[in-house]
Amino acid sequence: MCKKIKKVSIVPGCISCGTCESVCPRVFQVKGVAEVRQDGPSYFQEDADLVREAADLCPVSVIVVEDENQ
Ligand code: SF4
Repeated sequence: MCKKIKKVSIVPGCISCGTCESVCPRVFQVKGVAEVRQDGPSYFQEDADLVREAADLCPVSVIVVEDENQ
């Protein structure tokens, strides 16, 4: 079973491609650069696969997903 997501952050370097918001719009929004929506954490569990997919697909790998017990 997948570990639960504790925190998602976006480190500097986003190129504003929009992929994360397309893949997981309830967690990410791209306003200039990508950010985690204010209410994004409430979807970390429900959309966990999408959050991980967005992180995998980010072309510059700036989405950092921290699992619980990490
Ligand atoms: S996928 Fe990565 S580069 Fe693209 S908008 Fe999201 S954080 Fe930025």
